Order: sequence, then C-alpha cells, then structure tokens
Amino acid sequence: MAGIVLDGKKLARELEEDLRGRVEKIVEASGRVPILATVLVGNDPASATYVRMKGNACKRVGMESERVLLSEETTTEELVDVIEGLNANEDVHGILLQHPVPSQINERLAFDGISIAKDVDGVTTQGFGLMAMKEQAYGSATPAGIMRLLKHYNIPLEGKHAVVVGRSPILGKPMAMMLLNENCTVTICHSRTQDLPAHVAQADVLVGAVGRPEFIRGAWIKEGAVVIDAGYNPGPVGDIELSAIVDTCTAYTPVPGGVGPMTIATLMAQTVEAAEKSL
Ligand code: NAP
Repeated sequence: MAGIVLDGKKLARELEEDLRGRVEKIVEASGRVPILATVLVGNDPASATYVRMKGNACKRVGMESERVLLSEETTTEELVDVIEGLNANEDVHGILLQHPVPSQINERLAFDGISIAKDVDGVTTQGFGLMAMKEQAYGSATPAGIMRLLKHYNIPLEGKHAVVVGRSPILGKPMAMMLLNENCTVTICHSRTQDLPAHVAQADVLVGAVGRPEFIRGAWIKEGAVVIDAGYNPGPVGDIELSAIVDTCTAYTPVPGGVGPMTIATLMAQTVEAAEKSL
C-alpha cells in the first residue's frame, strides 16, 4: 500500500488561512500591520528567490515585509549594525536573515545579533538553547515546520528511532533536539559518519537534510519508515530517493510540496505570534 503523503502545501495553506484572521485582529487592536524584516546579503539568486517567496507569504496573510538588501561586500560589523537597527524598530516584529551570507561575514555573530523577541526564524544560539531545554522559543523554521506536519498527521514519535542525516545549525541539529523532546531515540549522522546506510536502515523516522540530490538511497530505508525529505535541490529533487520508497513507507513528504511550504508557513506563524506578544 502506498505511503501517506504528508501534504505540506495543503497544511501550509490552511495555516495561512488561520493566520490571516489573526493578523486582522492585530490590525484592529493596534492600528498597525505586523512587519517581517527580511535581510538579504549579496546576489545569490536562490537566496533572492527564497526572500521573495517569504515576502509573498507575508502579503497572503496580510502582513508586510520590509526588505533590506545589502551588497556582497558587507562586513560583519555593518550587518550587525543593520540588525540592531531592526531590533530597535518597534514597527518590526520579526527579523529574517537569509542564510547563507557571503563568506567574509561571521554568520553566527550576525544571527546572534537578532533579539530573542524578534528571532522568528529560530536562528539564535539563545533560541536554540531555550528550545533544547523545552522553554519558550521560536524553533528554527524548517524543523519546526516538520514537527507541525508530523503532529497534524498524528505520526507517533514516542519511543521511535529517529535518524537525522545532517547536523547544520538551522536544520539537522535543531531537528534532532525537537525529535528528542518528543521522546524519540535520536541518531544524528553527518559527513564523518561511518556506514551511513546501516544507520539509515535503523530509522523508524528518517530525516534527510544533506543538500545532495537523492543521496539517501531507497534501498537503505526500512519498510514502514516515516520519511521526511528536507532537501531541496535543483529539479526540484530532495535528498532522498523518494520514488523508490513511496509504496513501502508509512508516510513521506513530497518534494516539492512537503517541507518547503511548511517552513514558510511556520515563519509566518512565528511572526504573527511575535506581533501578538508585542501588543
Ligand atoms: P548544510 O548546512 O550544507 O548541511 C549539510 C549537512 O549534511 C552537514 O551537517 C553535513 O555534515 C551533512 N553531510 C554532507 N555530506 C554528507 C555525507 N556524505 N554523509 C552524511 N552527511 C553529510 O545544509 P542545510 O542548510 O542543513 O540544508 C540541507 C538541505 O536542506 C539542502 O538540500 C537545503 O536546500 C535544504 N533546506 C531546505 C529548506 C526548506 O525550507 N525546504 C530549508 C533549509 C534547507 P557535516 O556537518 O559533517 O559537514
């Protein structure tokens, strides 16, 4: 029997519908439209597309996005100054710094310049720590979106063996923490992992977050697994060979239409929450 499609596109649209109503209430109560500031440094076309998609999502839910475009030559100090200006701006409720930034910039320092109240993309060290400790924080948008999707489809997590392939600060690492917080037993794999196929074969819940097209092969994945493909490579194609497992898995996220739309909807939801808190 074919696996259930974890339809991120559909759930994201439902979530946005709900957010539209919440934004209307904020506008009625405060006379102000919530604003997400998006900061894009440099000329990377993929990053520009992602920022545009986030701006369009703001429009769909009735919010505004304030676009800040900085040159490829921007220094860490200049970027942190811009972020501090946005922290101080009461009209701005959330700040998104598009990853990756040019290599001369210390990205960690720049992320950590974002005030915790406006860290709606969940990228700060403080936000990560709070999330890991199960305290109130906006989770990193991609893994938080994946958790929303799993919850919506009532995917059981407690006691399951989750294998996360990838350990980036915005995806693999927070993903592993979120799954641990839901009582999964978690294995984190990365570029130095030995015998990756053997680890993947253990997964009841598998998350691919590597950034290489169909790198995780269908033959490695055990029958009945829940398969989450966070990868988004030109095609578009994910990090997992999904075509090989659609009939043998319990559930899977399609690419496109799975994790991507949930990331954006989660960013919107967290910005609306920040705006509500600021009232
Ligand atoms: P990243 O920062 O490049 O991290 C990639 C991770 O994969 C690293 O932890 C790396 O290990 C690991 N890796 C690389 N080669 C490996 C190998 N041979 N075996 C096992 N692990 C290996 O990428 P990212 O930002 O996390 O993104 C990962 C993917 O998710 C990309 O396809 C990206 O486009 C996608 N993404 C999608 C969304 C969305 O909204 N849909 C958002 C963000 C990212 P080391 O740590 O050892 O180097």
